[in-house]
Amino acid sequence: MSKKNSQTIPARVLLGPGPSMIAPRVLEALAAPTIGHLDPYLLELYAEEQALLQQVFQTGNEWTFSISGTGTAGMETVLVNLIEPGDFVLCAVKGYFGERLAEIATRCGAAVDRIWRPWGETFTVEEFEYALTCHKYKLVTLVHTETSTGAVQGNIREIADVAHKHDALLVLDTVTSLGGVTVDIDAWGIDAAYAASQKCLSVPPGLSPLTIGERARQVIEKRTRPVHSFYLDLNQYASYWNGAHGYHHTASSNLHYAMREGLRMLLEEGLENCFSRHKSNAEALWAGLEVLGFPPLIPEFYRSPVLTTPRIPVELEEARIRARLLNEYNIEIAGGFGDLRGKVWRIGLMGHSSRLENVTILLDALKKLIRG
Ligand SMILES: *Cc1c(COP(=O)(O)O)cnc(C)c1O
Repeated sequence: MSKKNSQTIPARVLLGPGPSMIAPRVLEALAAPTIGHLDPYLLELYAEEQALLQQVFQTGNEWTFSISGTGTAGMETVLVNLIEPGDFVLCAVKGYFGERLAEIATRCGAAVDRIWRPWGETFTVEEFEYALTCHKYKLVTLVHTETSTGAVQGNIREIADVAHKHDALLVLDTVTSLGGVTVDIDAWGIDAAYAASQKCLSVPPGLSPLTIGERARQVIEKRTRPVHSFYLDLNQYASYWNGAHGYHHTASSNLHYAMREGLRMLLEEGLENCFSRHKSNAEALWAGLEVLGFPPLIPEFYRSPVLTTPRIPVELEEARIRARLLNEYNIEIAGGFGDLRGKVWRIGLMGHSSRLENVTILLDALKKLIRG
């Protein structure tokens, strides 16, 4: 007889840039019987999921729901619906995911301009003001927490104000922020934002929650051409979720059970409590890493509590240590990439992974591997 899945799948401690670990309650929800994508029960679940997502995004936006697909699907959905070929788009790039937005906007047919900061830095409001004064853009893209560097962009509200003053929309990537640090869509005036199930929401990969504000909805309604992607067309999504509930595609009931359970857990804990937990566990990690000789790359005032990038000494065989962490201790962390390849590790403490016991076992394992 073949071995059961549970005997062959390794029990990893997931401390990388996502996926994060999944709470037993969410895994149980995932394993409930599959039902049809038009089943009345699932339509009720959507209404509940939508209300939970509105609380987590802190928004009253009616168009707040989960797209079938990972965070990148959320990215493409927002851009393919808002952009028509020939539109001018300003992309703020300070790491890998900012550049991915620029790449997608280009593929949507936009004329893309970039403002840049070196990997590990963030933007000032004046940099947006200057670019938006020089040229007229339909929208601006910005990553809140850049998972390639561990830096959190501040002054989001001020940046949104500047964008609006110049008649541009602000699209915000909140993939590694949502559920880990404050994301306040309405107070900040964000026009469109998206996230992913598998980061701080601690739900398996496969859903991308997003929210679209009134200004952005009007832009979509005024399109002169249909959205290029049939699958990611927000009008069709909205009518499946909110309107006639007509068939659009076969959504995964199981993933939505899991999403609802993950969101319930988050709100039972309370947003503020959850953010403080992420913060205090991160502080324990930072202190321990400092003692081991790995000071964090990002200055504390804009360092993400969700993803830490400790500097690693050049003489350290970092890939070998990561491999041993995985093989001998079942702990997953990630290496740096792009401009930070070989210079940092990427250690995630997201959602259900953000627990003090995980910080302790990682620091203990690192101590042994470095001395050994
Ligand atoms: C992970 C991530 C994405 C992409 O999400 P996938 O689920 O891998 O498609 C986008 N933006 C940021 C900031 C991310 O961390």
